Amino acid sequence: MIDGVIKYTFDFQQTEPLKHEQFTEIESLRKRLFALNLIGVTDEGIGFGNISQRVGRDSFVITGTQTGHLAKLQGEHYALIEAYNDKEFYLKSSGAIKPSSEALTHGTIYNLSFDISAVIHIHSKVIWNFMLKNNYLKTEDVAYGTKEMIDEVNRIFSTIEPLSNPKFVMLGHEDGVIIFGTDLLSAELILYEMLKKVVNA
Ligand SMILES: [Zn+2]
Repeated sequence: MIDGVIKYTFDFQQTEPLKHEQFTEIESLRKRLFALNLIGVTDEGIGFGNISQRVGRDSFVITGTQTGHLAKLQGEHYALIEAYNDKEFYLKSSGAIKPSSEALTHGTIYNLSFDISAVIHIHSKVIWNFMLKNNYLKTEDVAYGTKEMIDEVNRIFSTIEPLSNPKFVMLGHEDGVIIFGTDLLSAELILYEMLKKVVNA
């Protein structure tokens, strides 16, 4: 399944677009990932991929829903998550657009450690296949944006330090991969290290 279906309790407050300084770093990274088609749009016209950056304990900025097809995003394409509770499947956001339907999965990752400040979700057939074949961490066959996905993320990081292995493949979400880090740059570098392995495989 691909982004676009929202399945959780949504408290969305429509406000002014976000200010540029709230998404400057995300947008800079997003341009590179869009150029690599790791964020983009399927042949069927469905957008995929999203990026978020932590703002506070329960707060982060994330790309808006169904923005994958856009080469360049502006303030109206970003959402601010003001609060969330993944156990209650609750999320409160503001901005001019609703957040990505995978926002709560990002929230669960931020809950793993306060040192995590960036989450990247990309779609790539070659990386997805490579990670499954090479026994990377993976969520079982559950759909994105569900309680089961949250449980799976918590399960795979219940026995390991999340930042010691900050990437996993989503078996039930075709082509879906998540990478996270202490900041956007470190997450980006982890992604490129993996790309290098895929290219050399
Ligand atoms: Zn996805």
